[in-house]
Amino acid sequence: MVSDCIFCKIVAGDIPANKVYEDGEILAFLDINPLGRGHTLLIPKVHVAKLRDCPGDILTKLTACISPLAEAILQAVGAEAYNVLCNNGRAAGQLVEHLHFHIIPRLPNDGVLTHRRPLELDKSTMASITEKIQGML
Ligand code: AMP
Ligand code: ZN
Repeated sequence: MVSDCIFCKIVAGDIPANKVYEDGEILAFLDINPLGRGHTLLIPKVHVAKLRDCPGDILTKLTACISPLAEAILQAVGAEAYNVLCNNGRAAGQLVEHLHFHIIPRLPNDGVLTHRRPLELDKSTMASITEKIQGML
C-alpha cells in the first residue's frame, strides 16, 4: 500500500469504485473517465508501478483474467470488440503509477484510439533495430 496512490486507496476501500471483479490478488473496476461504456481497469492489489516490477505469479493472474473479464464486459454493454492497453511509463501516458490494464470496449467507427501515425523506416533500419532487440534479450 502506497499512501498517496489512488489505486491503493481503492484496493483498501478508502475511496469508492465500481468493482466488477476481485480476488485475493487482483481487482477490476470501472474507469472513472471511460472511453466507452464498460471501460474497465484491471490491477494487481499489490502496489507495483510498472510491468517489470510485477511478480510473475501476479502477472500471470492478471493476464489470465483479461480474456474472461473482457468477454463479460462485451456481453454486459453490447460491444463487439475491445482494446487491451497498458500505459507503461510516463512517456507512454501512464498517469497513475500503479500498474493497470485498460480494457476498452469498442463499437464500429466509435472514434476511440484512432490516432495512428506510423514512421517510415527503411529496411536496414528495421533490421538494425531487430538485431539490437534480439541482443538485449
Ligand atoms: P493511465 O493514463 O493509463 O495511467 O490511466 C489512468 C486511468 O485511471 C485513467 O483512465 C483515469 O480515468 C483512471 N482513474 C483515475 N482515478 C480513478 C478512480 N478514482 N477511479 C477509477 N478510475 C480512475
Ligand atoms: Zn498503488
